[in-house]
Amino acid sequence: MTFTPDTEPSYLLCDLFASLQGEATWTGLAMFFVRFSGCPLACPWCDEPRHRDPAAARPWTAPALVTALRQIDPLLSQVLLTGGEPLAAQSLDQLVDFLKDHGYWVAMETSGIGGIIPPGVDWVTLSPKTPLPEAVFHRANEIKYIVDGSPADRQAVEIQQRAQTHPNVWVQPRFEPGMAPSGASALNPQALQRCLDHIKQSGGRIRLSLQTHKWIGLP
Ligand code: SF4
Repeated sequence: MTFTPDTEPSYLLCDLFASLQGEATWTGLAMFFVRFSGCPLACPWCDEPRHRDPAAARPWTAPALVTALRQIDPLLSQVLLTGGEPLAAQSLDQLVDFLKDHGYWVAMETSGIGGIIPPGVDWVTLSPKTPLPEAVFHRANEIKYIVDGSPADRQAVEIQQRAQTHPNVWVQPRFEPGMAPSGASALNPQALQRCLDHIKQSGGRIRLSLQTHKWIGLP
């Protein structure tokens, strides 16, 4: 795909870096993290506050992004579009096609809110926060539920139902501020227990996702 100056869209990003995926199916896989600014939701536990900071947002065209990726690591060919909420970006399908035309495998992490998942995306991680159309669940390659420590887990029924109909369902305990002795964020032990309960109840159809990058100090 060739962009011309007149039609070339730009995308508001707040972060761009290479690291290891720490969660779910692709844990341990090196990839670029392309973090979009803005999200239609405002989850109180959101651990990515930079996406809400207008001062952190920078407009990027697709060619400028590919140039930057190649400068960061010319060998790396996996890209994760995350946020914030990438689906809320205009012309996202054009960015996905451009990345793929330049040899990248493109994954996306989304809450499923804000737009249509572009057909070119190779891997969709759906992290539902609200009710969603059934088609969105069918498009997901993996479904990852973020679990808190509350006994009144409002997603409990849905998690178990999804585990019976989707082959790749994960539960991930929240890191919470103040859980570490230093006051920093750490794994919530009640949330971990809730996850273990979900796994047991599902007969082993659900898997545990830990944010392993946080354990080893990666972004
Ligand atoms: S959907 Fe994700 S990025 Fe958006 S506010 Fe919730 S946790 Fe944060």
